[in-house]
Amino acid sequence: MKLYELTAAALSRLLQNMEVSAMEVVKSFLDRIAAVEPYIKAFVTLTPAEALQEARAVDLKRARGEALHPLAGVPVALKDCICTAGLRTTCSSRVLENFIPPYDATVVAKLKKAGLPILGKTNMDEFSMGSSTEYSAFFPTRNPWNLERVPGGSSGGSAAAVAARMAPLALGSDTGGSVRQPAAFCGLTGIRPTYGRVSRFGLIAYASSLDQIGTLTLTAAEGALLLGLIAGHDPLDSTSLPQEAPHYAASLEDSLKGLRVGVIAENYGAGFDPEINAAVENAVNLLKERGASVGEVSLPHSGYALAAYCLISSAEASSNLARFDGVRYGLRVGGENIADMFSRTRGEGFGPEVKRRMMIGTYALGAGSCDALYQQALKVRTLLRRDFASAFKDFDLLMGATTSAPAYKIGEKKDPLQMYLGDTCTLSDALAGLPSISVPGGLHSCGLPVGVQLTAPPLQEGLLFRAAHALEEARGDAPACPPLDLPLEGGCLEWNLRL
Ligand code: GLN
Repeated sequence: MKLYELTAAALSRLLQNMEVSAMEVVKSFLDRIAAVEPYIKAFVTLTPAEALQEARAVDLKRARGEALHPLAGVPVALKDCICTAGLRTTCSSRVLENFIPPYDATVVAKLKKAGLPILGKTNMDEFSMGSSTEYSAFFPTRNPWNLERVPGGSSGGSAAAVAARMAPLALGSDTGGSVRQPAAFCGLTGIRPTYGRVSRFGLIAYASSLDQIGTLTLTAAEGALLLGLIAGHDPLDSTSLPQEAPHYAASLEDSLKGLRVGVIAENYGAGFDPEINAAVENAVNLLKERGASVGEVSLPHSGYALAAYCLISSAEASSNLARFDGVRYGLRVGGENIADMFSRTRGEGFGPEVKRRMMIGTYALGAGSCDALYQQALKVRTLLRRDFASAFKDFDLLMGATTSAPAYKIGEKKDPLQMYLGDTCTLSDALAGLPSISVPGGLHSCGLPVGVQLTAPPLQEGLLFRAAHALEEARGDAPACPPLDLPLEGGCLEWNLRL
């Protein structure tokens, strides 16, 4: 078996036992990237030299007997909206195509301190607005399970990189489903933590009341380790919660006996692919076998979540993205006067979906429409929070499908509304600020993975990992790996490095 075929947990064990070096691990992933990336196109920027340098540093520390984080030497890929000092961070937008942040996001500083080599920055929908990675200004990313399909989005590059074994771990961001939906489409475990659980300092903002950084991994145990590393209070983010992160990995094996699980009526059943319903039922049965009791629950206002999400996220985006004006960051297109310069820079710098959302958001906040649109959306948000609060009186955990269908074809969803409608299962919990995880639910007969979603009360990420881990254990299979029948032509990347 090649090193890149192993899970992060297996690599961590080999590294800690000094059976392999971090250099060997990183080189193996670089070889895999060289062979596979030309077909998948998961990365906007690759950083092989920096990854090898970090690997060498970890190997030296280990040789000196220094105490290291269990993931030291295990490489990671980062969604390209997470700032990296001295390394281009584009948000897959023309407006930031050449933007080099002067500082690291807090999560990046934590990864570096723990010795995780960074392989590169992954492709995404521009400014995280989208569900397929087709709204990247650069290129679409392909789903490793079927190259004609989307990997999901907006963290599609991160998901595709892990699914194709080009990176064992990745970070993404989730505003309304952008970690969980690509995790489902690519057969991975993806968690969106509680709002405020992970610092967003250095995460380029889309919708600040919703954005959270999350992890994409092959297994729940690895998600627990990686989230444990990046979570915790950060004085640099005023929305960061004061609690320190618990040791998620320590409670993974705890029993599920007595756990009350509610299946969300709106996230399953009519209108959902029958095989996805079967995957939810199968997960229900596995949880029951492990001692959980299962009932049904309704979130009566979830039918309004999409409209509320569109208004709130677009309103916040219209304000957040005002900063890209050609003066302070990235692209500047010259004009006759300053207003002309702003207008040309923004006109050329942003893609159509980003413009659409900024216009919707500006309209929703306008003096004449704010009460009817934005304020109404905030009221719906409160109702959704109450729906969850009442569901959690009877249940410890809620579950359903992550998406109503498996990954669609690249180019298939031409109407943006059709694309938005695919996100209905991942919006309500995001609006309520709750932690939620997508776990692999097996393969559909079309050969694509499907996901099952679990949602917990605030700060109960440990419970999500525990249930996800129990599902994996009950199935007993190794994480599924796409067959990746690559065409022979298409080439291979060449690293210009002295390895
Ligand atoms: N797909 C959703 C959207 O288009 C969610 C995106 C996200 O979570 N960043 O906005």
